[in-house]
Amino acid sequence: MLPEIERLLILQDRDKRARLLRSELKNIPSERKALEQRLANARQLAGDTKQKQRNAEVEQARLENEIKSRREQIAKYENQKLQTRKNEEYQALNHSIDHVRREIAEIEDRQIQLMETLEALRPEVALAEKAATEAAALVQRQITDLDAKLKNLESQTTELDESRQRYTDGLDEDLLDTYKALFNSKQVAVVALNHDVCEGCHMKVTTATAAATRAAKLIVHCEQCNRILYRGTD
Ligand SMILES: [Zn+2]
Repeated sequence: MLPEIERLLILQDRDKRARLLRSELKNIPSERKALEQRLANARQLAGDTKQKQRNAEVEQARLENEIKSRREQIAKYENQKLQTRKNEEYQALNHSIDHVRREIAEIEDRQIQLMETLEALRPEVALAEKAATEAAALVQRQITDLDAKLKNLESQTTELDESRQRYTDGLDEDLLDTYKALFNSKQVAVVALNHDVCEGCHMKVTTATAAATRAAKLIVHCEQCNRILYRGTD
């Protein structure tokens, strides 16, 4: 194998690793965002359920007050009944009392419904709060892991970037430029030729190209995809 090819293969291997690390690094912010969103959703659900419970409790207190004021109203009517001597007025007061009593009965029905609602909400609130607490702990752990992963990826990338020079030193500039252009546009720049087939584009190369690749005296390119070829294991 041409020494240049050998060096390019090592370089390519490192560049592939660097590219993989970079793509993983690129994903980290969205991974973090997804985690934070999960936590926010759990908290939102717990908050909403709790709010439903609070609203029902406020309504309960309001209904209690409504009953209280109606009972006071009835007491007032009863008092007026004692003071009146007119039969008509007496009957009218009785009528009003009946009306307010019916109102109280309706409110009491609503109170029962509300109590059932509150009863059902209690475990729901507990469950949502538990889920939010668990999500917070889990997400916190996952974010810590993600931060560690980020640091690790960054240091590996830095290491690869900083040492890259060592692997390019002494390589022909034009060859390096060609390699770079191929690596960036075709993902892989240097590929094996097996059974006269280029492993980059999977096309058969000409007899001359195959012979030149086997001879390994010059840098040979695939005439289909232009990738740099080296003799494979066949
Ligand atoms: Zn090819």
